[in-house]
Amino acid sequence: MTTPTRPPALPRVAVCGISLEASTFSPALTTAAMLAPRRGREVLDAWDFWRPGGSLADRAQWIGILQARSIAGGAIPADDHALLKAEILAGLVAAVAEAPLDGVVLDIHGAASVVGLDDMEGDLAVAVRAVVGPDCLISSGMDLHGNVSRTLAGTVDLLTTYRTAPHVDWQETKERAARNLLDRLALPPGRRRPAKAWVPVPILLPGEMTSTRQEPATSLYARVPEIEALDGILDAGIWIGYPWADEPRNCAVVMVVGDDAGLATKEAAALARELWARREEFGFVAPTGTLAEVLARAVAAPTGPFVISDSGDNPTAGGAGDVTWTLAALLASEELAASGKRAIYASIPDAPAALAAAEVGVGADVRLTLGARIDPRPAPPVQVSGRVVAVVPSEDNVEVVVRTPAVDVVVTRRRRPYHLESDFTRLGLDPRTADIVVVKIGYLEPELFDLAADWMLALTPGGVDQHLSRLGHRRVRRPMFPLDDVSSVDPVADAVLFPGDTGG
Ligand SMILES: [Zn+2]
Repeated sequence: MTTPTRPPALPRVAVCGISLEASTFSPALTTAAMLAPRRGREVLDAWDFWRPGGSLADRAQWIGILQARSIAGGAIPADDHALLKAEILAGLVAAVAEAPLDGVVLDIHGAASVVGLDDMEGDLAVAVRAVVGPDCLISSGMDLHGNVSRTLAGTVDLLTTYRTAPHVDWQETKERAARNLLDRLALPPGRRRPAKAWVPVPILLPGEMTSTRQEPATSLYARVPEIEALDGILDAGIWIGYPWADEPRNCAVVMVVGDDAGLATKEAAALARELWARREEFGFVAPTGTLAEVLARAVAAPTGPFVISDSGDNPTAGGAGDVTWTLAALLASEELAASGKRAIYASIPDAPAALAAAEVGVGADVRLTLGARIDPRPAPPVQVSGRVVAVVPSEDNVEVVVRTPAVDVVVTRRRRPYHLESDFTRLGLDPRTADIVVVKIGYLEPELFDLAADWMLALTPGGVDQHLSRLGHRRVRRPMFPLDDVSSVDPVADAVLFPGDTGG
């Protein structure tokens, strides 16, 4: 055994990446501008742990290259992606020209899509590797809704992922990825790379069925830190994956990394088999129904507010946001009109309509044609006649409320989520006294959950349809649970061990 010796100088570690969750079933696009790239020092300012005074700030010479990030959406246009990728690679080339890099933190989500390109993250990792060379260690802290292709697993040396959904551990995961990298760089060359056991498991499920706040995810994810604590193991993870993209890589993945390749292989296979054995236990976090069923329940509810998740077009999962299916049904509902109840609908993004309503102002009566500009597939644009009762401009948006006999319709210039009580009250709407509140969301964020007298998840159409079999996946591996008969599937048949520096 050799004695570990610290490198004489601080390791040089570059930070770069593209972080996006993108539905390929949505016609929406996510441009380079929407990804708001940070450059240089701004990249480092995004996380506390390597900012001056942060826990890892003094352990490396951190070099910010470019990191781009957006809320979920559609795929990145090919040209926009090419520009971002080229700038990342050029930045790395310039850094390497000064002195070799010891490490790279590849800051990715894992579910980005690019028009005409499969496996954005695997492609980027391979390109980064070509610049930084074989001796540099690459580490990634990912979202558990991201995908780990064989290429990504083989190219990135250290992979870790969130262990909670909703993701309360996102910052600690990003920090763990950086800290694991520094800990391995403190070892002598030739002992730094751990072995990686990668097991793709043919399961494709929406996040609304796999929250770690309920079984079986709670106990499956509780196994992760137990495995991580074993001698010879460095990290473990379950990527439940992203179901709203149609690429060969989309499925769940279990990985265990460590110096004990045999133990990593055994533990990864065992955890993958546990995940597989419990696949039928995954269920929605709330009662579900068709929109008609859910609306009937809401109208009949004895107390309000009854919150309805309009889930198929949830913008924070990748929906276009302007699907009109649910709003059209609300406006046309004779049950709702006859009940005397009132609903809030949040929201429909439509820039021309929002700007036109803002222009005529509060108190004016308007007739607007709304939505279905980006995603017209489920339903055409909807006609709304009513009075403008609020106009709220902000730095990058304009929000308008149009009051119709039974529905207060929120119209925005840009797509945005409505997750907080204040998102409503700042528009003069009180979700607590409303009878029915309809939100483009999947599982309710905590504030909405707390104020709801009752809630249901409506299985509505859109780019992030929860009814996966309606989407028509063509390119994912088959058979795939729950799309196919999987009775003869061996869940660890495609497991791969990538050996580390210490061999088997
Ligand atoms: Zn996620």
